[in-house]
Amino acid sequence: MIQRYISRHLAVKFFLSYLVVILVGIVILASAAELAVPRAFDRHLSAMGSMMQEMMGGQPMGGMMGTLSSSGDMNADLYRNFRAAVTEALALAALAAGLAAVVVSVVVSRQVVAPIQAMRRASARIAEGHYAERVVIPGNVAAGDLDELAQLALSFNRMAAQLARTEAMRRQLIGDVSHELRTPLTAIKGSLEGLMDGVLPATPETYQQIHREASRLQRLVEDLQELSRVEARAYELHPRRLSPRALLEQAASRLRYQFSEKGVSLEVRTPERLPDVWADEDRIQQVLTNLLGNALRYTPAGGAVTLEAQPARGEVRFQVRDTGVGISPEHLPHLFDRFYRVDKSRSRERGGSGIGLTIAKHLVEAHGGRIWAESAGRGQGSTFVFTLPQAGSLPNL
Ligand code: ADP
Repeated sequence: MIQRYISRHLAVKFFLSYLVVILVGIVILASAAELAVPRAFDRHLSAMGSMMQEMMGGQPMGGMMGTLSSSGDMNADLYRNFRAAVTEALALAALAAGLAAVVVSVVVSRQVVAPIQAMRRASARIAEGHYAERVVIPGNVAAGDLDELAQLALSFNRMAAQLARTEAMRRQLIGDVSHELRTPLTAIKGSLEGLMDGVLPATPETYQQIHREASRLQRLVEDLQELSRVEARAYELHPRRLSPRALLEQAASRLRYQFSEKGVSLEVRTPERLPDVWADEDRIQQVLTNLLGNALRYTPAGGAVTLEAQPARGEVRFQVRDTGVGISPEHLPHLFDRFYRVDKSRSRERGGSGIGLTIAKHLVEAHGGRIWAESAGRGQGSTFVFTLPQAGSLPNL
């Protein structure tokens, strides 16, 4: 019972630890006094004796000293009193130290226990789903003078903020995914009902339309699967030394047929000498295919798409430039967000899921690179740029 009480209260533990220190101090002090007091007392008496002898002019102190030495009782009495005074002083010191231990343990435990209990309450609230919960940080965060408890409180608040962000993202994702699934599903259901009611003719076009919507659904699910894999970093990178020119040529040759079908020209332009990059070939092909696919999708017939690579301070900068529909400046920072589309319905019609650029961003960043979009505005074409580290400056992948 007592043990349980002790083990549950930090204040009692503090008090007991102070008490142990005090007891050890008292015991050491008492033992030292026990050893030192009699000797000090003897020394003092013999010094007193010789002092008196000198005062009597060096004569043997027959009279007075005889009385002194014979009065052993008086010496013993003096010694007892001296000892009693020492013991009393020790007892008083122990009492005062004990009281100080109580006060100090209460004050210290308040300072230590109060923030810990605040964190305990806050973590219980977070566990119940109240992600806005935060604790007060004891100390001056701006000045940076934080003790371990304040650092713990700071990390606690960071963890709570991260949990809140993750929860918000989860909710947003569920909302986005259900919204994305609803559109093709509604179209499929509508067409099927039209067929059943005989409103829609059972022609190849009707079936093709249903098939198109089903394919869109399938693509969306596949994209989502890929996104979750990429976001969770559930894939391995196999980087090696690669030629930027070869990477661009390979991506271009994959899509050359679709470009010529649509009547959009495709050109690869690189300087003669270009440093190699350090990258996973398949993953970079995935990024390039996505950017090229977008360039083709958003560039009308007669337009041109150029693939470029240039060296830039320890990196190689890849560019996919098109003369297509362009992007207004307000959209540029959001293009890489999940499901973000400049023109939702038109992009969906063209088969876009709004996830491709998000995946590309994750892949480029996994290589230690950056990706961004540039455009002078609508109708002005767009350029998608990403960087990869040069093979000489090996990043930590
Ligand atoms: P989607 O599959 O819809 O193309 P992405 O993530 O690849 O999704 O692209 C997000 C949005 O960025 C697109 O919906 C489109 O609005 C815009 N976008 C991407 N590439 C281009 C481009 N080359 N020209 C104009 N807009 C583009």
